[in-house]
Amino acid sequence: MNLEAVLLGAGMTVTRGRQEIFNLLKVADRPMTMNELLSQSPALDRATVYRTVRLFEKLGIVKNVYFGQINRFELSDNFVDHHHHIACKNCGRIEKLHSQSLEKQLVKLATKVDFSHTSHQVEILGLCKNCRLAP
Ligand SMILES: [Zn+2]
Ligand SMILES: [Zn+2]
Repeated sequence: MNLEAVLLGAGMTVTRGRQEIFNLLKVADRPMTMNELLSQSPALDRATVYRTVRLFEKLGIVKNVYFGQINRFELSDNFVDHHHHIACKNCGRIEKLHSQSLEKQLVKLATKVDFSHTSHQVEILGLCKNCRLAP
């Protein structure tokens, strides 16, 4: 899927701000906080960035990723491969995780209690090697 198709489908156009926020999320190697999005798009005013992220959430372009209290944003499964994350509680380092067996297991769990599975959020918190070794 591409940004233009989704926006056009919703009767909207690609603006400079929308394209810029989309590009930032596309090249990011981890989910971004609102503050990171704001500081990396200095040409856009604050309201535009907030409005764009809300719009992207509504249109399913962006999804929320929660690590404890910190809310981050990344492109949805429509734009990138489905994956999960592990975040270091100490330094904030984030790695992507892929697991076919986890995906299968989650669907199975839902089925077991007579639900159809539509989506899930699984994020792991931990301590990375550096932080475990630090005195
Ligand atoms: Zn760490
Ligand atoms: Zn999954």
